[in-house]
Amino acid sequence: MNVPDIFTPLDLGHTKLQNRIVMGSMHTGLEEAKNGFQRLADFYELRAKNEVGLIITGGISPNLFGRLAPFGLQLSFGWQVKKHKIITQAVHKYSTKICLQILHAGRYGFHPFIVSASNTKAPISPFKARKITKFEINKTINDFAKTSSLAQKAGYDGVEIMGSEGYFINQFLAPKTNHRADEYGGSFENRSRLACEIVKSIRQKVGKNFIIIFRLSMLDLVEDGMTFEEVVKLAKKLEALGVDIINTGIGWHEARIPTIATSVPRSAFTWISKKIKQEINIPVITSNRINNPEQANKILSDGHADMISMARPFLADPYFVTKTKENKVDEINTCIACNQACLDNIFKGHIASCLVNPKACFESEFKSEKSQSEKNVLIIGAGPAGISAAIEASDRGHKVTLIEKNSEIGGQFNLAKVIPGKEEFHETIRYFKKQVSLSNMTLILNQKADMEFINKNNFDAIIIATGISPRVPQIEGITHNKCVSYTDVLTKKVMIGKKVAIIGAGGIGFDVAEFLCHDSGDPQQDIKDFLNTWGIDQQYKNRGALKKAKPSKPHREIFLLQRKSSKHGSGLGKTTGWIHRQTLKNAGVKMLGDLNYTKIDDAGLHIQHASGEVEILDVDHVIICAGQNSNNDLYNHLKKEINIPLHIIGGAKKAQEIDAKRAIDEGVRLANSL
Ligand code: NAP
Ligand code: SF4
Repeated sequence: MNVPDIFTPLDLGHTKLQNRIVMGSMHTGLEEAKNGFQRLADFYELRAKNEVGLIITGGISPNLFGRLAPFGLQLSFGWQVKKHKIITQAVHKYSTKICLQILHAGRYGFHPFIVSASNTKAPISPFKARKITKFEINKTINDFAKTSSLAQKAGYDGVEIMGSEGYFINQFLAPKTNHRADEYGGSFENRSRLACEIVKSIRQKVGKNFIIIFRLSMLDLVEDGMTFEEVVKLAKKLEALGVDIINTGIGWHEARIPTIATSVPRSAFTWISKKIKQEINIPVITSNRINNPEQANKILSDGHADMISMARPFLADPYFVTKTKENKVDEINTCIACNQACLDNIFKGHIASCLVNPKACFESEFKSEKSQSEKNVLIIGAGPAGISAAIEASDRGHKVTLIEKNSEIGGQFNLAKVIPGKEEFHETIRYFKKQVSLSNMTLILNQKADMEFINKNNFDAIIIATGISPRVPQIEGITHNKCVSYTDVLTKKVMIGKKVAIIGAGGIGFDVAEFLCHDSGDPQQDIKDFLNTWGIDQQYKNRGALKKAKPSKPHREIFLLQRKSSKHGSGLGKTTGWIHRQTLKNAGVKMLGDLNYTKIDDAGLHIQHASGEVEILDVDHVIICAGQNSNNDLYNHLKKEINIPLHIIGGAKKAQEIDAKRAIDEGVRLANSL
């Protein structure tokens, strides 16, 4: 038997896909932006030019009720076809196929007109959904068919019907949200009627030669979700109704189980795609936490799926497929599944981009040609901001010197990579190192930049990227030998005791708590551990594939402290903050707030609660994670001493709320403008 790899074409009978790589559906926010269709066309075209097999667009509603947001995109009218042609024509300059995703949000919509199978309210929408009438169901089925036929006119190669993630169709499928007593509720035959009628009417409208993909919720991961038998039954019905490909959907958006965050092990869910694939004869796409070609090939050769869907990896690197083809896998800028610039941006109403590739979705804002005037550029500091600036400046044809006082590049990423569940930062460091080696820049390690060095060289511009230093708070006894900085903990300079207090519950306080919950040196959780920790049942004994979660036992007693009275971790990312909170809660970390630190001495950390009550936490260590100060002394000195254009970026410029997203963005933007 021939084992397919990602470059094996896939014949669907009426059409052929050039390879097994799908760029999965992503809402980028460009859909609603000014000149958005042209920008989307540019975005997709770059990925098509770089040989993605199949692109699936962001979700587009078939009618007003199904919109995700009041001004969310809808395709219902003939006059809208012209705009979509901008996209399909751009993609079809290459061999890539493109399908439009039809997404009816149901009770996940963010507006007052939302409808669902029954009168229910989703925990993730402020609005209560109204039970849709039978008349409206018929109309909605026709709307799906009409959107598909308009998509066909616009030149799309097919449609993907969003039947998973807890959206409208999924709301009909699961007893959790379907309490109807008519022919659309009750038995599975009835609950699946809507999905089947939608597929039937689309196929009738578009004919045989048009791809229909159905995104099937294989694991609902909510109480009263579907059973395994129901998922299989539906997959078989969809196949019989003429669906060409089944795509894997994992978890409703309201499920309190991480499905795509960086703490989810790679390939954590492909096993369920395999189970479904064994039951049907049409191709199955698998997805979730797949971010590199070797992994994709293994999934195919292990028979877990016929195609691999990756969405965020194509924000991180549009050249993913061509780099793989050219044997340049180590040059891929890997998606680290942080969600910080993609999903978190979308939730804030901003256009999506990428932490490791700030050009994503903003391609037209950056110059791609070489600079007209080559400059001799010095960059001081090889953390995320400095390296990003150095790589970009070098790409634009400048002569770059990157100088770093430490023995390795990466700065704060070298701390982040040791946090359990953040191992993907290794990939970014690997990418940085590779880019540095491919460039003509001069990298100097173990050396501080001083006036002598600067005066000796004839620089045209200097970029200061000297980063941050941990802030030392003014607390009596802060120099006591119980007190340690988070850097000493993460670099394992200090052996930490069994009972600890962490001062500061920002991103770093959370990271350090997570680090201390595990025995140092723990490898990333394997898939089995992950499934057990979060209560995902591979045996599928209960509806929704849920079982009792079994988080691992804490190894230490940990207090995570802040002076504020607000919820711990409220400043963490919208899509990942809850995971960090839940993980620490499960590990028994005690989160205390609304307090003051009065003293640290042999007895431990003395705190005073807002009530006035004083408490001594008899801890072995007090770990300081109290924010950062900018390392800007050199900048302030050079400002007075030199006349060369001087720039400052990243944490050195502003320490408050500095994170990798801002650091890399500032580095790339500044260097691109030189
Ligand atoms: P941070 O988020 O600003 O948190 C600093 C913490 O220290 C706060 O909890 C603050 O709480 C406390 N603090 C501030 N000044 C203090 C003082 N003088 N004495 C005692 N406590 C003090 O900073 P960070 O944790 O160092 O993180 C730096 C940046 O990296 C942040 O932007 C963060 O979002 C980002 N980051 C993000 C992640 C992530 O998972 N997304 C992970 C790591 C880092 P009180 O003032 O209430 O005491
Ligand atoms: Fe991946 Fe993070 Fe970039 Fe999103 S922001 S695409 S999760 S690396």
